[in-house]
Amino acid sequence: MSIQQVAILGSTGSIGVSTLDVIARNADKFSVFALVAGRNVEVMRKQCLTFKPKFAVMQCEQAAKQLRGDLAGSEIQVLTGVQAMQDVVSHSDVDIVMSAIVGAAGLLPTISAVEHSKKVLLANKESLVMSGQIFMDKVKQHGATLLPIDSEHNAIYQSLPTAFQQHSDPKLNQFGIRKILLTGSGGPFLTRNIETLADVTVEEAVAHPNWSMGQKISVDSATMMNKGLEFIEAKWLFNCDADDIEVVIHPQSMIHSMVQYQDGSVIAQMGQPDMRTPIAYGLSYPERIDAGVEPLDFSQICDFTFTKPDYHRYPNLALAIEACKTGQAATTAVNAANEIAVAAFLNKQIGFTDIYKVNAEVLNRIAITNLSSIDDVLAQDNEARVLAKHILKTME
Ligand code: NAD
Ligand code: MG
Repeated sequence: MSIQQVAILGSTGSIGVSTLDVIARNADKFSVFALVAGRNVEVMRKQCLTFKPKFAVMQCEQAAKQLRGDLAGSEIQVLTGVQAMQDVVSHSDVDIVMSAIVGAAGLLPTISAVEHSKKVLLANKESLVMSGQIFMDKVKQHGATLLPIDSEHNAIYQSLPTAFQQHSDPKLNQFGIRKILLTGSGGPFLTRNIETLADVTVEEAVAHPNWSMGQKISVDSATMMNKGLEFIEAKWLFNCDADDIEVVIHPQSMIHSMVQYQDGSVIAQMGQPDMRTPIAYGLSYPERIDAGVEPLDFSQICDFTFTKPDYHRYPNLALAIEACKTGQAATTAVNAANEIAVAAFLNKQIGFTDIYKVNAEVLNRIAITNLSSIDDVLAQDNEARVLAKHILKTME
């Protein structure tokens, strides 16, 4: 097989860095065509010097200017802005696109990759939460290959029959599947006294017990909004209904999710909590490559425990599941509200439990319309952000 050319959206982030680590271990199979990031020039410069992509794209001109200066004399073209991000992932030389920008900012470049029939490795769950049906219709229409990187969805994908993976309109019951079991650790506040959650600090919220991740997803894991977004993500990826998905708390994060079959079998995928496993799976699918991940040592593993989620502790999870049942306008709105609320929490403007209040209030007030294009999705996203910011003001 010829060397596959990879474009990475969000290369300087947690998933981006892990992706480059896997590529470096498999340099005979993959090469970096383009790197895309926000404003972190320092990390981007190092990545460019090591991986020598053809293009590096930064979010704003100021960062690009600095990077251009740093890379003077190299052949790397430095570009700026969303259109450039869309152009590099659509380039005819690109085989694989890793979608790992955080939040709604990932939507347009990811959609471009889909529209150009790329093999798309989806870490940016927010883009699918926002545009669900439209996104999946485009995957079908353009014959793109969509591989889930979110560890739970990657685990479910690995636990499904190959015929399900390759079917254009698979139904769970046609394949003898009873349920999808979506596992989550419960985050850092699984056992904390609920009465004290309002006092949670930023430092406590971003300290996940098992996974090392970006700040936004770490807060989402603490509120379990992350599991809510993943619930919506699973509905679209596996073509099923909310009733087909059950959230299971598994604090050890060794089982990454499971599929329950009608004959009583449960197939699970297990491994270290290290995102290089799903990333390597996506890059090399349907083959397997070295990811640099230590194998599980079963003589060292003690307990495996499972419980039901407590919606009183995790109201954001209940809210997202409710939005999933309402439809796409609601899921787009809750995703946008949550981005604004989490940013305000990280800026220490609001408390931890206020994140739910903002999200619930936006869902309560926003108009639920039919979203039939990406423009409609962006308009709904914008409306929810404006509303969330207005609600934040009233909380000051
Ligand atoms: P992160 O904050 O570490 O990295 C985000 C990346 O996006 C950075 O490279 C940043 O520069 C870039 N970025 C931010 N805004 C941008 C913009 N407007 N334009 C271009 N680039 C921009 O986040 P992460 O933890 O790597 O997560 C990335 C995505 O993957 C998220 O959607 C997250 O939900 C998902 N995900 C992450 C993990 C994980 O373990 N980190 C696991 C599952 C899913
Ligand atoms: Mg996940």
